[in-house]
Amino acid sequence: PDLAILAMSGILDARPKVGYFYTGKTAFSFISEKIKRIKVAERKSVPVIVDEQTSVYDAIVTMFLEDVSTIFVVENGYFAGVVSRKDFLKNAIGGLNLHKTPVAVIMTRMPNIVMSTLNESILEAATKIIDHEVDSLPIVEEVMKDNGDRAYKVVGRITKTTIVRVFAELGNNE
Ligand code: ADP
Repeated sequence: PDLAILAMSGILDARPKVGYFYTGKTAFSFISEKIKRIKVAERKSVPVIVDEQTSVYDAIVTMFLEDVSTIFVVENGYFAGVVSRKDFLKNAIGGLNLHKTPVAVIMTRMPNIVMSTLNESILEAATKIIDHEVDSLPIVEEVMKDNGDRAYKVVGRITKTTIVRVFAELGNNE
């Protein structure tokens, strides 16, 4: 029965009439497989979105009210860019007229945005966050505009907090 339990957990493999053999999997491989199986779709949080015409001032207020560090910007409903805390600070100390300037002027624009999709694994999303040194990723779905151009709709966000939560859950064996 002990061998059967190890076979069920994937540590041993059983060959009828031959016997049991070690699959080579360690505890780390199980954690790694588990993380790879968690999809972005299961963990996404609600995106905070403003229109490109929104003033920088109003976008900063939105950031506080919604308690987020990154805001996604849309043009005619389609994903256009990202503004983060540092973008706001940089422009505020630079003396920008926060009330008169639309957020589109200071955002990081498409196509320079690192994005995620619903079907991606949480591990792929975490790797993008680390590789590109950003705090969050918009989760997008590709759509076709009326004129046939490709565009994206924002359907969620994934942040460093999302990843830390998964890490804590795995550590606590939840
Ligand atoms: P913070 O400003 O709070 O440190 P980030 O480190 O995420 O936040 O942002 C740093 C810079 O990267 C900002 O200029 C921001 O516009 C940009 N940025 C944020 N998220 C992304 C992303 N997913 N893809 C590309 N650029 C991003």
